[in-house]
Amino acid sequence: MKRISINSEIFRTITEHAMNELPDEACGLIAGKEEGDVRTVEKVYILTNLDHSSEHFSISPQEQLEAVKDIRANGLKLLGNWHSHPASPSRPSAEDIRLAFDKNMSYLILSLMDKNKPVLNSFHIENGAFAREEIEITEE
Ligand SMILES: [Zn+2]
Repeated sequence: MKRISINSEIFRTITEHAMNELPDEACGLIAGKEEGDVRTVEKVYILTNLDHSSEHFSISPQEQLEAVKDIRANGLKLLGNWHSHPASPSRPSAEDIRLAFDKNMSYLILSLMDKNKPVLNSFHIENGAFAREEIEITEE
């Protein structure tokens, strides 16, 4: 099982963007380094949710392609994606599980159910089941 390390600045970037996108879900990619079981997020990509929906998201394929190019150019690794749940808990929905095609990715979900206390969890999703990955938010 992977462990995710994410610094507070990136956490803030994700949270602020997700709040700005309310009531829609926000989404993007995370990239960084992987050493053993530890995935350190060094860069976050904020991408367009083509669905403009409060209940699901589709990452713009064109923006995703650009982001992946940028990740490679920076010598980083694509670690996974993230999206927000404006009004539901931080765990994968049935659709999130159905659409999680890559078991090597970490799926981060930010819940804004309590606007004063956003909750970020990371999940491994494989064969229709999910497991929580340990996540640590570090101070810069
Ligand atoms: Zn979701």
